[in-house]
Amino acid sequence: MKILVHICCAPDAFYFLKRLREEYPDNTIVGFFYDPNIHPYEEYKLRLVETERICQALGIELYKGEYDLENWMRSVKGYEDEPERGKRCKICFDYRLIRSAQFAKDLGATHLTTTLLMSPKKEFMMLKESGESVASTYGLEFLSPDYRKGGGTQEMFKLSRGFEVYHQDYCGCIYGLFKQKKENAVWDLVSFIGRRPGSKEESLFIKSVRLFAEGLSLSCREWEFSFLNWKVLYGRIQVGDQTIPSFVVPFSRSVRGILKADVEEVIGNTLYYNRGGLKILLVDELKDEPVYRFNGLTDPTFRVSSAYRELLLKNRIKVELQTELSTDQSSVLLVGSLQAKSFVGIPADTLQDGEGVSLEAVKEFIKRNLNEMLKGQISLVVCGAESLARAGSSYFRERTGKIINTVFCELGF
Ligand code: SF4
Repeated sequence: MKILVHICCAPDAFYFLKRLREEYPDNTIVGFFYDPNIHPYEEYKLRLVETERICQALGIELYKGEYDLENWMRSVKGYEDEPERGKRCKICFDYRLIRSAQFAKDLGATHLTTTLLMSPKKEFMMLKESGESVASTYGLEFLSPDYRKGGGTQEMFKLSRGFEVYHQDYCGCIYGLFKQKKENAVWDLVSFIGRRPGSKEESLFIKSVRLFAEGLSLSCREWEFSFLNWKVLYGRIQVGDQTIPSFVVPFSRSVRGILKADVEEVIGNTLYYNRGGLKILLVDELKDEPVYRFNGLTDPTFRVSSAYRELLLKNRIKVELQTELSTDQSSVLLVGSLQAKSFVGIPADTLQDGEGVSLEAVKEFIKRNLNEMLKGQISLVVCGAESLARAGSSYFRERTGKIINTVFCELGF
């Protein structure tokens, strides 16, 4: 027989697929990632990449369904306020299982099941009924093993922790997310340009490097750490009606309302203003810069091209700035041996303008240096939150006692 397994996420799938294969050793097992219920898209991609990683490790063929978010949203219309495990979830299960059953038929499968059965937060009986009813409509048999029993849930967590699988902290949809996290849910949905420190995009980059490296039989190890994060929500300098192009210097605090200020003192290329501790750094080329050493200062500070020097000296400016300081999580990934002779560091995050190392460049580096990496000569260290006081590489040094010898950007990639 051929079993099509609908997959919701990697932590649930890893243990479930392992157990299913033990129970049906002589049958073909195929995975199908189909989850248009997951918001936002970056979270969807993150769960997909991690599913690809565990399927790669288990040697299970994986297909992925469409991200037909709009149709999913239409299907749960009118049930937005339902609690988790309520009517919206029943519709959501049916929606995903119907598409999975159609795909199972196309693939010539005889049996259908879902890794949702592994999730401790889902109603087992609701899923079983839903699965049986959908499967019978399509002439399939639904398998509903309860691998949660007998310590299965604990085993599942242990297994995914051991494989350093990304573990989401909400079910998936925007409605469940807001119910669970209230106003903090907005941080899961907001997307900044590039891969800012601690963001889903940054995690996705790290996990994508890992998927690629593990596919080439390179060993990987990942450590999570907390760091002081800083984000710009909104910032602007104006002279009259003219907006002056600028970047905000990391760790700048917010200003209240619209601040009007005049230059009080000029020291070198720094303009000190008479209100709100405001500063402007005049630079030859306007671009964002990482902060490699945080000196503890949080004065609201902008970088502006020195072409605006005269305009700024002669005129009053209006400034708006909203920033956010908080503690967040990021991670550092070691690709290769910890005993390597040389460690090449790569920032996983990008600057405010989206400038950073591309995934293609990292893959290219790994391909070119694969032999040395497999022999333990060179290892890569992919560092999260590197632009904010080198958080990732500092944690790597603290955790392993090893020092990064070469910075990736210096290698000409
Ligand atoms: S809470 Fe989870 S199962 Fe329920 S509708 Fe949302 S994504 Fe689907």
